[in-house]
Amino acid sequence: MSSTLQNIIELFRKHGDSEYGGESVTQLEHALQTAMLAELAGAASSLIAAALLHDIGHLLHELPDDAPGQGIDDLHEQAGWRFLHRYAPAAVSEPVRLHVAAKRYLCAVDTSYAARLSPPSVLSLQLQGGPMSATEVQDFQQNPWAGDAVRLRKWDDEAKVAGLQTPPLEHFIPALAESLQEKAS
Ligand code: FE
Repeated sequence: MSSTLQNIIELFRKHGDSEYGGESVTQLEHALQTAMLAELAGAASSLIAAALLHDIGHLLHELPDDAPGQGIDDLHEQAGWRFLHRYAPAAVSEPVRLHVAAKRYLCAVDTSYAARLSPPSVLSLQLQGGPMSATEVQDFQQNPWAGDAVRLRKWDDEAKVAGLQTPPLEHFIPALAESLQEKAS
């Protein structure tokens, strides 16, 4: 197993039990639910890996679990990207970098989406810049990874179900290993 993969598993072991920002699941449960939804949707292994790792930035910083409640945007999507783009192809790191932008995008183009957001997600949206402007929407749509980021975002939003059964972390190691190898080759 590569040292990067070991690092990632270690991060989940060490910090996976932390609360997922005011939701009723832990970081690990949230990651596993998001990855399971990606797998059920038939996503490519790179996007399953992105789903599993989309909030890895939360595991890398030392800010409190309730940073948004204290008015702090933890910029976890950027921290996640900085970590991942060294080891994984853009098909993994870019949807991670864009998953907050995808929320701001969906809020701008789909009012029913905005109405379904959980209270913690509404709170963080304000710190993240609120719904996109018309110009930002146009720019976002030009991004080649926008489609994958939006798919990931919708799984992310659903992956907050307390007590939901998921496969264990080990189940997703082949998808992770495959994605990390792609970068090396
Ligand atoms: Fe998330």
